[in-house]
Amino acid sequence: MSWFLRHHAVYVMNKNKIIKIGDGIYQIKYYWLGISNVYMFLVVGGERALLIDTGYSTTNVMKYVRHVTDKPIIPVNTHGHFDHIGGNGVFQKVYLSEKDWRTAREHSDREYLQNMLQHKMDISRIFRMIAKLPAVKKELEESIDMENCKYVPLPSENYFELGNRKVLFLETPGHTQGSICLFDEKTRSLFPGDMLCERGVLLGLDHSTSVEEYKQSVEKTEKFYREHSGKMIFPSHHELPVNENIFSRYRQLCDKIISGEIKGRYIDDGISQGLCAKENNLQIIYRQISGKEHTS
Ligand SMILES: [Zn+2]
Repeated sequence: MSWFLRHHAVYVMNKNKIIKIGDGIYQIKYYWLGISNVYMFLVVGGERALLIDTGYSTTNVMKYVRHVTDKPIIPVNTHGHFDHIGGNGVFQKVYLSEKDWRTAREHSDREYLQNMLQHKMDISRIFRMIAKLPAVKKELEESIDMENCKYVPLPSENYFELGNRKVLFLETPGHTQGSICLFDEKTRSLFPGDMLCERGVLLGLDHSTSVEEYKQSVEKTEKFYREHSGKMIFPSHHELPVNENIFSRYRQLCDKIISGEIKGRYIDDGISQGLCAKENNLQIIYRQISGKEHTS
C-alpha cells in the first residue's frame, strides 16, 4: 500500500463517526471516497429514534446508530438523492415524500448512477485520477449497487412521534420536488437536508424547481423556524450549524436572479448543469427562474 493510500485510509476512518450535537440528537459524518461529506442525523425519543437520511450504500449507517441506541429506528429521507437514500435497503420501509419517489427510483438505478459517474469522470480530470485508486474504485462500484426498499408516504399528521418527543416536517420543494425540512421540537433544531447550506443550493438537477418556487420554500421555512423559536440549523453538507441569517441571504440571491440583477453563468459540475449565480459565498445553480414547469 502506498503512503498516499495508507494515509487516505486512516484519514477516512478517523473522519467517519457519530457525534452528539444536542440533547438526544446525533450527527453521523460520512465522507464518500474520503472527500465528499454528507451527514445523517439521529433524534432519540423515549420509545423510538428517527434516522434522518441513510447516506450512501457504503456508509453502513446502522453501524453508527447502534453505538448510541437500541431503540426501534424510523428512517425518513429528506429527499430522494443517492447520497441520502443509499442505506435504505436495510429497512423494511422508509418514509419519503411521494413527490420524490420517481427521483429515488432513478437514484438507486445502477445504470443511471453509472452514467452520472461516467459524466463526472469525463469532465473532471481530478475525479478521473482519484477514481483510478483501487480503494476508491471499489467504493465507487459499491456505491452504485443499491438495494431496493419500500417507500411509504410521509405521515398525514405532519410529525413523527418518538415517545415524549415530536419531530415535525414541512414540504419545501426546490432542490427536488419532494424535499422536506424536519424540526425537532425538544431542541428546536431544523434539519433542512439539501435545501440550504453554507455553500449553495443545486436547482440544476432533474426534478429541481424554478428559483421562484425555491424562494417560496425558503420563506416558508424561515416563517416556520421563527414561529417555532428555532435555535439551531443543521444542513446535510458542509459547515454546521449555520447562522439563521442564511434564510435572508438565500432570499436576497433569489431576488437578484428573479429581477435579472444577477445573471448566472453556465456550469456543468458533473452532477448538475445550469446557470450559476454567486454572491456572499453562496451560489445557486438553476435552470429555470419562474413558473411551475419542472426541469425534467
Ligand atoms: Zn440532494
